[in-house]
Amino acid sequence: MQKVDLQKEVAKGTVLPLMEEFYTIQGEGFHTGTAAYFIRVGGCDVGCHWCDVKESWDAELHPPTAIEEIVERASKAANLAVVTGGEPLTWNMGPLTAALKKAGMQLNMETSGAYPLTGTWDWICLSPKKTKLPVESVYAAAHELKVVIFNKHDFIFAEEQAALTNDKAILFLQPEWSKQEEMVPLIVEYVKNNPKWRISLQTHKYLDIP
Ligand code: SF4
Repeated sequence: MQKVDLQKEVAKGTVLPLMEEFYTIQGEGFHTGTAAYFIRVGGCDVGCHWCDVKESWDAELHPPTAIEEIVERASKAANLAVVTGGEPLTWNMGPLTAALKKAGMQLNMETSGAYPLTGTWDWICLSPKKTKLPVESVYAAAHELKVVIFNKHDFIFAEEQAALTNDKAILFLQPEWSKQEEMVPLIVEYVKNNPKWRISLQTHKYLDIP
């Protein structure tokens, strides 16, 4: 495909920069412990300093992949797809979600919410970041708000973000992996004192699975 045609297909969302895809167990948030086919799309300009997938940031490094190929592999492997990144909403998620749904899959997304919502989802996990705040359409549609706790100020940020998110969203605080020893005791106390929050742990890292 010529470069200009490829750019058009990416703009339409029929081709996406695919970083990796794998069948595993969802390690964090509301669906922890559930088998899922992860589709990691490249491209993210949110710039979290503690990001554990920095290699996802540059979309140019990840092969433009037709969504039909992704859907074929995903639907053979699992009933649940988790689309993550990078930041999936960098791209038009409409065609991918339509095709995954047509193949009978449940569709969950992990997003920072930094870009307007595209696609049709069964579950949206919004994980807001201070460096590029979510847009209104994602606050309104989120099923789950998951705030990463890296330092004490993040509890204040979590409350600010909860106030902006729709009332039905389930609220999670999750220790940043490298800070967990320091932050877990604080999170435990915080959730005991503020029980609208739940704790999310990155259980896939304890299990040593992707
Ligand atoms: Fe990394 Fe996610 Fe932050 Fe992007 S939004 S920099 S992928 S943690």
